[in-house]
Amino acid sequence: MPHRKNIYLFYKQTPEMEQHVQPLQTFLKENGFHIVTDLEQAHIIASIGGDNAFLQATRKTGFRDDCLYIGISTEGLGFYTDFTTKEAEHMLHAVNNEQVEVRRYPIIEVSIDEEPPFYCLNECSIRSNVIKTFVIDVLIDDFPFETFRGDGMIVSTPTGSTAYNKSVRGAVVDPLLPSMQVSEIASLNNNEYRTLGTSFLLSSQRTLTLKVVQDGNDHPIIGVDNEALSIRHAEKVDIKISERQIKVLKLKHNSFWQKVQRKFL
Ligand code: NAD
Repeated sequence: MPHRKNIYLFYKQTPEMEQHVQPLQTFLKENGFHIVTDLEQAHIIASIGGDNAFLQATRKTGFRDDCLYIGISTEGLGFYTDFTTKEAEHMLHAVNNEQVEVRRYPIIEVSIDEEPPFYCLNECSIRSNVIKTFVIDVLIDDFPFETFRGDGMIVSTPTGSTAYNKSVRGAVVDPLLPSMQVSEIASLNNNEYRTLGTSFLLSSQRTLTLKVVQDGNDHPIIGVDNEALSIRHAEKVDIKISERQIKVLKLKHNSFWQKVQRKFL
């Protein structure tokens, strides 16, 4: 990183955020970084804000695999933010003293009705947009696995497993396992509809296909991380672990499991 010092700062441009960003910009310039406003020139993309800002930064910059992402929080540490604006000197000290490492995080690739894919760092969720259940045929590598009826499904990455997925009792997955987890949201289980009823993990070799059964209630909301896709009609959603990964700069002594302990235990 010391030799690739073009840094793009991604943040919500509000007067309050500027108060955090201005001192950081000055500090970075004094220490040899070049603040760039053209993404094409960036070697490093720093999100400033919480996990929310980090998710937006990866999305709005196109999940670049030729850049290093850094999450800098304006408050405490989060799941994607290992540094804070208040401790910029500590961040530089860590970088200069080999207390940091680059981690590659798996991301999910989602293609709707064979269109070019979207990427997700946390999860892709598919939910009914009306107060009625909807039906999804679930296929694994084209094998018809189950038919789901309920509120929706969540397909999460390992780093996303501690977010929405965890709220529906999905397992927390080590990000060193390139896998995706499929979790149900309020499935109906009766003599007519039967699903596994537990979350399951798929390897990076698999493709999951969700086919929305067209019964008039076929305008589901498709969420990619913290954004809803404005797609009016979706019939077939193909989801797999992408070959692309994002590179994230993190502190060596702040492992995923330390974050899990800090946040949940
Ligand atoms: P938000 O403001 O609704 O935040 C939800 C919380 O999730 C925040 O505290 C955020 O820091 C935290 N979070 C985000 N990513 C996380 C991760 N990987 N591990 C642990 N916690 C995480 O929205 P946001 O901050 O933009 O986050 C978007 C995420 O919120 C979505 O990707 C989804 O995972 C999650 N979400 C959760 C629920 C739920 O638990 N019922 C519902 C909708 C969305």
